Amino acid sequence: MQKGTIGVTSENIFPIIKKFLYSDHEIFLRELVSNAVDATQKLKALALSGEFKGETGELRVKVSSDPKKGTITISDNGIGMTEDEVNRYINQIAFSSAGEFLDKYKDQLSNIIGHFGLGFYSAFMVSKKVEIQTLSWREEAQPVKWSCEGDPAYEIGKGKRKERGTDIILYLDDESKEFASEDKINYLLNKYCKFLPVEIAYGKETEWKDGKQVETGKDKIINNPSPLWTRKPSELKDEDYANFYRELYPMQEDPLFHIHLNVDYPFNLTGILYFPKIKDKIEVSRNKIQLYCNQVFVTDSVENIVPDFLTLLHGVIDSPDIPLNVSRSYLQSDSNVKKISSHITKKVADRLEDIYKNDRKSLEEKWDNLKIFIEYGMLTDEKFYERAEKFSLLKNTVGKFFSYDEYKKLIESEQTDKNKKLVYLYSTDVQEQYSYIESARNRGYDVLVFDSQLDSHFVNLLESKFKDSSFMRVDSDHIDKLIQKTDKEKPLISESEVKDISTVFEAVMPSGSHYSVSIENLGENEPAVLITRSEFMRRYREMSALNGGMNFYGSLPESYNLTINYSHSAIKKIMEQKSDKLSLDISAFDSRVADPVKALDEIKESIKGKKEDDIDLSVKERKESLEREIEGINDERKKLLATFGKENEIVRQVCDLALLSNGMLKGEDLNRFIKRSLSLIS
Ligand code: ADP
Repeated sequence: MQKGTIGVTSENIFPIIKKFLYSDHEIFLRELVSNAVDATQKLKALALSGEFKGETGELRVKVSSDPKKGTITISDNGIGMTEDEVNRYINQIAFSSAGEFLDKYKDQLSNIIGHFGLGFYSAFMVSKKVEIQTLSWREEAQPVKWSCEGDPAYEIGKGKRKERGTDIILYLDDESKEFASEDKINYLLNKYCKFLPVEIAYGKETEWKDGKQVETGKDKIINNPSPLWTRKPSELKDEDYANFYRELYPMQEDPLFHIHLNVDYPFNLTGILYFPKIKDKIEVSRNKIQLYCNQVFVTDSVENIVPDFLTLLHGVIDSPDIPLNVSRSYLQSDSNVKKISSHITKKVADRLEDIYKNDRKSLEEKWDNLKIFIEYGMLTDEKFYERAEKFSLLKNTVGKFFSYDEYKKLIESEQTDKNKKLVYLYSTDVQEQYSYIESARNRGYDVLVFDSQLDSHFVNLLESKFKDSSFMRVDSDHIDKLIQKTDKEKPLISESEVKDISTVFEAVMPSGSHYSVSIENLGENEPAVLITRSEFMRRYREMSALNGGMNFYGSLPESYNLTINYSHSAIKKIMEQKSDKLSLDISAFDSRVADPVKALDEIKESIKGKKEDDIDLSVKERKESLEREIEGINDERKKLLATFGKENEIVRQVCDLALLSNGMLKGEDLNRFIKRSLSLIS
């Protein structure tokens, strides 16, 4: 038996390995199994080139464990190692700056360990002793045994292996004994080795015999050595892709579409991506893409490798060209990663465009589940927007789908207003906004549906992209004001009359919200009173709610527009009753207020342009007392009008009808409305 010291300059690499790799101890199995797989593949290559002339046999990696003794053995029938090779590869690995290196990259070690010749040594994260028994494929090679007890001293000598290949035997340290349990090994193999390209055996197949499960003599293979992404797309059917999805995500609903990626220039990348059904919550669907490097599982957090919106996809990406040896934040600026990322984006767009062109029906069927994904991509990725505007669909309130171009053509002739602006009408809730949708339809207009999580952002985006167009929620004003064709004649009423009417109607509206009243001639067949919410205010409130905070707009009281239809017979009636009942009082107010108003105007004229300090105190006092007087008269006038409004059944009835059609009439008010309605018809 020969003794030596492992070629590590840093005094003792093992404590470092243990310490820094603490969080990811479990990757040791991946590293050792990958080495074993490599060894078998190298043998295959030697056989193919004719260098190795013997029988390769069934190339396979076997894992076994003894939980009681706390050992794990990884065996392969690959190329094995000669003593010289053990010396070279195991003892003197390019390890000289290992200590320094570990220090520098301690945060990302789990990813880099396999890429720096540290793979084998990861065994020491969990072992107090590691033994190698190996026999090289070379003719006349002798079996070699190597062992090391977790310090730089090792022993090397004659081994006992009779057949070509290598056993790596781990004697787990006390804290790591759990790794020898069957459950743990199954878990690790399933996580990291599920798609390794050579059969991995662990345990035996079982079968039912005489009423119980018994082991058969057959090795149980835990992996799928030729996963779907490594196979030719032309040989595969939709069913194969669906089955593979179930293999990857046993608990998920079936996906909508798949994309098979296959690139070999200028970088190497294969994979299969799936569009999952995304209904509402975007967050839960993330981090499902698994990243592999030559079929070895690396990670399932791909945030910096694919664009954000693509992390909503599911599936696998396999690329030896994604640099895993650099920090995650650096990844985004890596040119290979950038190329990979934009390639994947392009492929996704290609696939969707292809479905749009060749299978529009199925695109429409799946649109509701697909659209959040596409909208998210369009919102966050300019390049994707440019592609997606060709295949993205709009859905209207009767469930018909249109491309952007098709829809523009549909509404162009009817929905262009007098300023040549094309108005897109949309609804966020077809049930609630039904009456508005109806009146839009009665004009021959079409209404879109925008009812998903991202839609308030998305509407803004489309509005900024579409030329000379605006988007209006169908209930944000009277339809003829949303799409103004001609300048409507305003009712001929004085300013003070407008104020009076406003006071009458404001008096019966529910408190807590703000109503700005306007008086219009909407036509005899339109509702008497209309309650709408301005598109602008509503969008800002929605956006601030989506962004999680209440900003300036969010903190304002709810604000509505109250439109009084002056041409409606009910309003005409109210006006008649008002003048019957109040005209004497109103003219009395008018004459009472006339003198003080005149006097105030004169004072204002006289002090025009004067500085505050140059105005006589007596003038100031006179001005203030006039203002108080006017205010007092106006308050009285308002009170009178408000009382009229509150006592007038028709005012109450038309306002309640407007509230009702917005779903805003509730509780006691609703009850009173019903009673009043009954008494009006009986
Ligand atoms: P890497 O695999 O990154 O080269 P490792 O430390 O994992 O680094 O392994 C070092 C070398 O030891 C390998 O390159 C290989 O030559 C050799 N080796 C490790 N495991 C085996 C094995 N099971 N069979 C044959 N050679 C092996």
